[in-house]
Amino acid sequence: MAVFNLRAYDDHEQVVFCRDKESGLSAIICVHSTALGPAVGGCRMWEYNSDEGALIDALRLSRGMSYKNALAGLKMGGGKSVIIGNSKTQKSEALFEAFGTFVNNLNGQYFTAEDVGITPADMAIVHRKTDYVLGLEGRSGDPSPVTAYGVYKGMKAAVKHRLGRDSLDGVKVAVQGLGHVGYYLCEHLKSEGAQLFVTDINKESIDRVVSNLGATAVDKDEIYSQEVDVYAPCALGATINDVTLPQLQCSVVAGAANNQLAEDRHGDILKQKGILYTPDYVINAGGIINVSFEQNGATYNKQNALDKVDEIYGTLLEIFEAAEKESKTTNVVADELARKRIANAKS
Ligand code: NAD
Repeated sequence: MAVFNLRAYDDHEQVVFCRDKESGLSAIICVHSTALGPAVGGCRMWEYNSDEGALIDALRLSRGMSYKNALAGLKMGGGKSVIIGNSKTQKSEALFEAFGTFVNNLNGQYFTAEDVGITPADMAIVHRKTDYVLGLEGRSGDPSPVTAYGVYKGMKAAVKHRLGRDSLDGVKVAVQGLGHVGYYLCEHLKSEGAQLFVTDINKESIDRVVSNLGATAVDKDEIYSQEVDVYAPCALGATINDVTLPQLQCSVVAGAANNQLAEDRHGDILKQKGILYTPDYVINAGGIINVSFEQNGATYNKQNALDKVDEIYGTLLEIFEAAEKESKTTNVVADELARKRIANAKS
């Protein structure tokens, strides 16, 4: 299996393959960059089809964290880890303790946290073996409200740039996914007078937003074709694709979901259609910003975290303006800016 030649390897500083026979742990820890500070990124537990698939996923996610942390203006690099296995049937205390020991052996080069397939209880076990864990219970808490606040601020930046409006009053927003982030986002939007068109696969989630916030419910397949100002993807990734793009009627895409563009070329198509794309890892950085305020034993202060999240607005305006000036897509400009910040820190 190729490693250094993999496209996803992309100048990773360190990749650690972790094996503990007794507990059955097979894990990969990727440290993409520590130029801006210790690498920070969650741990995912997933039953991958192959070791190569696990490695590529970890490498891509790890680089993504470098870019996200750099553009959030954090003194943190990027990393990520994956535990290979079924999160429903293969968890044990010994497995998470073994993982914690591997994280600890990196001496603070990498901080781990929760991600897909991992619960706060799992991370508490990892913490028995290492202090290099962020987002533990009783510290900065649920990141979702802070992520939602950042998405709200980022949406305001996009609406300002694309529609020239300072307020979301009367702005029509189609929100897809009314889970942890989506619901809080709707609260912010409603409080500023936005008109909400919402969908979810869970009827109870829709009913809650309709009755509490006066939103209009929309069928899940019709969310893309709503005649709205903003489409806010807050459910799954890859919802901007060849099937949905022809349906979009909005001027702005701004939402919480990770990896919204199925492929980079879909950013080009959005641009051709005159739709402003708000790069996902910039607008959804509120959660990682929140958690960063408990690093190095700092006493967590929510207001300080929210003040930092406010910076998402200015970062996005900078990206939108550069994209316009250089005739590039916003996703390309964001990647370039992130690489520049990391390179500057290195030099
Ligand atoms: P969540 O699981 O709480 O909510 C997702 C919601 O989307 C659920 O209510 C689910 O029923 C709904 N959904 C799933 N498939 C759907 C579909 N096809 N159509 C409509 N609705 C659908 O997750 P969350 O924590 O709110 O996160 C939302 C997105 O934001 C995810 O992509 C996540 O990766 C990303 N994100 C979250 C955070 C955070 O702090 N929670 C931070 C950064 C990025």
